[in-house]
Amino acid sequence: MNPSDFANTIDRTTAMPARPISALGLFSGGLDSLVAVAMMRDLGITTKAVTFDSPFFNVSQTRQAAERLGVPLHVEDFGPTLIAIIQQPQHGFGAQLNPCIDCHIAMLRRTGELMETMGYDFIFSGEVLNQRPMSQNPAALRLIAQKCGYGPLLLRPLSAGLLEPTRPESLGWVPRERLGKIEGRSRREQLRLAEDYGIKIIPPVAGGCRLTEPNFARRLKDLKDHEGLRGMRAVHLLKIGRHLRLNQSTKLIVGRNERDNIELEGNAELYDLLLKPEAIPGPTGLVPITIRADALQQAAAICARYSDAESGQTVRIRIRSTQGLDYIETQPACPENVEPLLI
Ligand code: SF4
Repeated sequence: MNPSDFANTIDRTTAMPARPISALGLFSGGLDSLVAVAMMRDLGITTKAVTFDSPFFNVSQTRQAAERLGVPLHVEDFGPTLIAIIQQPQHGFGAQLNPCIDCHIAMLRRTGELMETMGYDFIFSGEVLNQRPMSQNPAALRLIAQKCGYGPLLLRPLSAGLLEPTRPESLGWVPRERLGKIEGRSRREQLRLAEDYGIKIIPPVAGGCRLTEPNFARRLKDLKDHEGLRGMRAVHLLKIGRHLRLNQSTKLIVGRNERDNIELEGNAELYDLLLKPEAIPGPTGLVPITIRADALQQAAAICARYSDAESGQTVRIRIRSTQGLDYIETQPACPENVEPLLI
């Protein structure tokens, strides 16, 4: 059965189940989703939260938020789906590399599928009318509801009073008059409700999705345009160290601190070279084994630049691969030659 067929199978006259009404809520752990879950529970709805794990979002904070709220949480791996969306989002990107409309459609579609398999009655989200210009304007909310395939069963409790009634409202599962009429970017009403519901820890405004961060989006776009978005490791590495584009096919990653260095060494694979200054404190560098000789010399000079070596000092760089060890002698690159390479 396709999703919209499922939404249409509910008979308006006989649809009040004898058991408590239950709902699955899209949950990020942000203020809006916290309040949406609390509102549903306050209305006597049996509620479970769903969140989507990916390299772009830290679900450990979401888990903590769900735990504090005392709501059961279902976590789905969403990395491959979101990477496929970023390759070619049907509805474009937001201000950075955030394909929010397609991302919401996919998350709500999956939440709807889970609703069916887990036997819940409807789904809800903490979306707020006109809070985000691209993905929460009236047309975008309608589009998302329609494309996810579960529109009639998708309740947006925070703004429901300003939106078309959904099936849970018209069937009397949820009293429409007790739902919110929140619109826009102000968090005042959500903060007031959070206090009413006893939510003590209020998350910061920023949602925590890396796709909305300019620095991360720039690195991701560079990866997409050069090596391509193949595999999770390359995406994971975007969060570590400094990234420098040496040429069309070669990027150098240099650790900024000991933690980065350890992470880079731990993530090195068969097709990587690891660079490290010898006999002097300095960063770990990671480049592909296919690197040209001139670019390897350049990478070694950049690693020396970020070491404790003085300008003009000769530095021996150790190069480690699965084939064994090699060495290059170099001098620290000039900062003015390094800056333009930073991604
Ligand atoms: S902010 Fe990130 S996780 Fe949220 S809808 Fe947009 S792309 Fe998806």
